[in-house]
Amino acid sequence: MLRTHLGGDLRAEHAGQAVVLAGWVNRRRDHGGLAFIDLRDSSGLVQVVFHPEQGDAFKVAEDVRNEYVLRVWGEVALRRDGSQNPDLPSGAIEVIVSQVEVLNSSETPPFPVNQETTVDELTRLRYRYLDLRRERMTENLRMRHRIVKFIRDYFDEQGFAEVETPVLNLATPEGARDYLVPSRVHPGNFYALPQSPQQWKQLLMVAGLERYFQIARCYRDEDLRADRQPEFTQLDVEMSFVDEQDILGMLEDLYTKMVTAVGPQFTLQTRPFPRFTYDEAMERYGSDKPDIRYGLEIQDLTPLIRGTDFAVFKNVIEAGGRIRGFAVPGAGETPRRQLDALIEVAREAGAQGLVTVAFGGEGALTGLTADDVRSPVARFFTPEQFTEWGAACGASRGDLLLIAAGPDALTSRVLDVLRRRMAEEHQLADEQTLAFCFVTEFPMFEWDAQDNKWNAVHHLFTSPFEEDFAIMGEQPEAVRSRAYDLVCNGWEIGGGSIRIHRPEKLMQVLGRLGIEREEATQKFGHMLEAFTYGAPPHGGFACGLDRTVAMLVGERDIREVIAFPKTKSASDMMTGAPAPVSGAQLTEAHIAVALPPSV
Ligand code: ASP
Repeated sequence: MLRTHLGGDLRAEHAGQAVVLAGWVNRRRDHGGLAFIDLRDSSGLVQVVFHPEQGDAFKVAEDVRNEYVLRVWGEVALRRDGSQNPDLPSGAIEVIVSQVEVLNSSETPPFPVNQETTVDELTRLRYRYLDLRRERMTENLRMRHRIVKFIRDYFDEQGFAEVETPVLNLATPEGARDYLVPSRVHPGNFYALPQSPQQWKQLLMVAGLERYFQIARCYRDEDLRADRQPEFTQLDVEMSFVDEQDILGMLEDLYTKMVTAVGPQFTLQTRPFPRFTYDEAMERYGSDKPDIRYGLEIQDLTPLIRGTDFAVFKNVIEAGGRIRGFAVPGAGETPRRQLDALIEVAREAGAQGLVTVAFGGEGALTGLTADDVRSPVARFFTPEQFTEWGAACGASRGDLLLIAAGPDALTSRVLDVLRRRMAEEHQLADEQTLAFCFVTEFPMFEWDAQDNKWNAVHHLFTSPFEEDFAIMGEQPEAVRSRAYDLVCNGWEIGGGSIRIHRPEKLMQVLGRLGIEREEATQKFGHMLEAFTYGAPPHGGFACGLDRTVAMLVGERDIREVIAFPKTKSASDMMTGAPAPVSGAQLTEAHIAVALPPSV
């Protein structure tokens, strides 16, 4: 070993000991004829002091710069009274250096490593090894390790086995776009990287493993957003002989214990985690990933408005749409300019407009007069009517109503965006609270207008409700699936389902998705066949590990918790991947590249 101790671990009880340390120069300063260096290693910082009497060492210290790598020999000494640093765990002591060796020099880093400054994203990724050298990022990686370790221990204790499933797979055109890998030995054939180990884990249930998990890398060739990466990690789980209650119960237990173990600074808002059916979540929050840290619950105002002459509302109701809205407490005084900005937000979400109703005064919503109501639709309704709307939304005087009109899909989208926006503007969401909930009974199918066919909302191995098989032909939109999501603070953390385990049922679903027998056999023959050999009832889930870690370390962007993430255009800034390969490599893989004319 090049050292005897980690500098950051030294304490007053080490005073008098001879130590050898190694690490990076975090900062150097000269004071009173002495040179002080904060030496950084994986344990943190320690102050090392160079006296002019130690001629050689002192001279070296004068020349070192930030990020040089040093090895120092010295003795631990208590700092003088008044010069202790209570902010530094090793701040009671310093190391008086007798000898120093420069293990390596360093160029001036493109951004400071020793402090949290805002650095352009691409520069950070280009010099990721320096970015990760920063304390926050190192700590994020350590937390990630701790969370993964917690997960492995948890599942191990519950009798699960971690199984590695193949990375080279058969392409499955359903779902997201695949990453393809050409086969050299099968000219013209391709593997696909897994979008999830879905089929493998189900086959492991057929195999009788009963309890499987994996920290699994998955790949999806999608357009990226802040919370997406082309490769990401899932906690993937499958169990046999279980129903929804077992799986949701386990998820709740896992996340509760995980938060207690690795994120004790967080408060869990509600236990047991509230459960909403998909319909209920859409009705109350306009979203299948509701942020329930705050209220702002959406109400249906249609019954109170039916029969109105106000054309906009009247037309919507006649067309089968609804008028829905929610109250924002204490926002009654929102200035006009800000209200206009909200209308713009609603428009961007697809609405024609947004009706605002501001109640003046204070206290209960009684005895309203026309003067107490500020609204662009004030002349179409009476103060009594506004009182009814306000009461339905649980409003008081001094509150603001935001009301959208249209088909449910539209009003849900608009009101969801507005709920989140208002919560942010009015700081209603406590960052230290984790509000988990489950959303269940998702629709099984959704209409794909582009390809003119029905798609599976979760995936095609998800079981519909048994009684809904009967309406699958006539009313696919009404078929409920046994799929569920785990949601926290408005983020989807994970999801899964109880699966189909009988081949004839799977054929029925495939048929509804427009996958005929021949195609079904070609793509899913192995699953259909496996299910004929006594497949047990089974189900499972997958949770985004990157999101889980981001949530527990308080980061918004999953790239902050991935060691070497890709940019938004899926490139690696450091290595330059993806990049062209040599003609020889292409020939070997039997690939001829045909670029679109614009490239
Ligand atoms: N395979 C699914 C996913 O990746 C999760 C599951 O159904 O278990 O989202």
